[in-house]
Amino acid sequence: MFRIGHGYDVHRLVEGRKLIIGGVDIPHTVGLLGHSDADVLLHAVMDAMLGALALGDIGHLFPDTDDAFKGADSMKLTEEVVRRIRENGYEIGNIDATVIAQAPKLAPYIVQIRENIARVCGCDISQISVKATTEEKLGFTGEKLGISAHAVALLKKI
Ligand code: ZN
Repeated sequence: MFRIGHGYDVHRLVEGRKLIIGGVDIPHTVGLLGHSDADVLLHAVMDAMLGALALGDIGHLFPDTDDAFKGADSMKLTEEVVRRIRENGYEIGNIDATVIAQAPKLAPYIVQIRENIARVCGCDISQISVKATTEEKLGFTGEKLGISAHAVALLKKI
């Protein structure tokens, strides 16, 4: 009836890149480096959904050796993952995610991020939780070298 999955992702912060988190282009001095748009949150969310059905991970589904995914919009990739979840006879029960970033403050963008994920997942915003925290200046997120994200997804049989 129910399947649960976990996802985790990290991207390095560099100059000259956009900072896109949960499909929101967030103004900042540095952005996330990656083959796609490097949306660390959506990557963790996709891996959680894929993990719930033991369908592998996004590295396997959208390989970074494939030019088709260079600069890819992670909202579109998430759409494809949701399509596969449905194809396998499941829908999203709820998602809970945490973004770990020392900067910038994500609070002003949380509602917009939740709306984006709810839209692409075809569910209500009440089913999508996104939280942001820091690691108190400790480790790579604390030193602003990168941003990480964790997500869990509960899927239910349609
Ligand atoms: Zn990623």
